[in-house]
Amino acid sequence: MKIGTAESRAGELSTGYVEATQLPTGGAEKIPVVVAEGVETGPTLWVVGAIHADETTSLAVAHDFVDWLNPDELAGRVVCVPNANPAGFRVNGRESYYHGDDPNRYFPAEDAGGARPRKVQELINRRLFDRITDSADAVVALHTSWVGSASYVIQPRVTHGDDRTEDEARALADELTDLTEAFGLPVVNQYSQSREISEGLHRSLSGAAVREAGIPAFTPELGGRYIVEDDARAYGVEGLKNVARTLEMVAESPRTDPQLEPPIPHPLKRSVHPHTDTAGVVQYRVREGDAVEKGDAVADILTPHGERKTTVRTEEDGYVLSRHEGATAYENDPLLDLAVPDDDPLVVPHESAE
Ligand SMILES: [Zn+2]
Repeated sequence: MKIGTAESRAGELSTGYVEATQLPTGGAEKIPVVVAEGVETGPTLWVVGAIHADETTSLAVAHDFVDWLNPDELAGRVVCVPNANPAGFRVNGRESYYHGDDPNRYFPAEDAGGARPRKVQELINRRLFDRITDSADAVVALHTSWVGSASYVIQPRVTHGDDRTEDEARALADELTDLTEAFGLPVVNQYSQSREISEGLHRSLSGAAVREAGIPAFTPELGGRYIVEDDARAYGVEGLKNVARTLEMVAESPRTDPQLEPPIPHPLKRSVHPHTDTAGVVQYRVREGDAVEKGDAVADILTPHGERKTTVRTEEDGYVLSRHEGATAYENDPLLDLAVPDDDPLVVPHESAE
């Protein structure tokens, strides 16, 4: 198999680059790729890190996982892209500098129509996505969240009614659930589909892989960004190992005990809540991992002199995934990412993004 300049051979690890676009300064934008080609047939697992290029733990996890693989004892193939956003990485940032916004909102969506020419980030993502969907049986898109975050897994919802029957969607959701549970971190379902679309998350890598290509794909959020967090790094590597075991790519039984349990019962979904209606200086009363109940005070908003202007309470039960970074609050700024009880189905009728 050839992916970019990486040419894989059974029992070997090969490295190379996928040329993503030409640069105005000469040469090309090149995305690094590592292929571990097993000696026996089996599934192809893609592991993609650091599309938000400041999410350094995801890069370390990708490197560590490749290090652990032994192609001589592997069934199938692992294709690893440790750093899917070289333009962001060069400037130590989250975005790429092509147009300064989130590169993980530019993967293909059939109904993302419009007559305008594709932006360069869309072309880059399309070239990577085509290689992924050519071969992938499963995709793990490694991420981290904000500084001060718990580790968890985001599970996309699965749609039917477009080019997938409801039975096919249920089968895909079952495959996906096996893998997210195997990862061993608390599973938090994606927002409702309409919110997912309005946030552009249907065009994230895992969103597009599930929605457009019917490939089981999910997003581990491994602690916070900017520095490698050792506990999150260990969760990520063990999670990937257990995905490989579950897919029977390595001759080890999968572990069935979770690495980390949520402090409140499943099923859970993402919620950005609460917001402050008062501008000021934020002082949190909770931290990542804390369970909260409706009415609990989660933060105080202070004056510039440090006096309390107001106390912000949660209107939802849940637990804290992340505090938002910084102490600055404008009116209606969100304060927390929460995991809250999820009453919505995981398999839902397809809604158009237009
Ligand atoms: Zn991210």
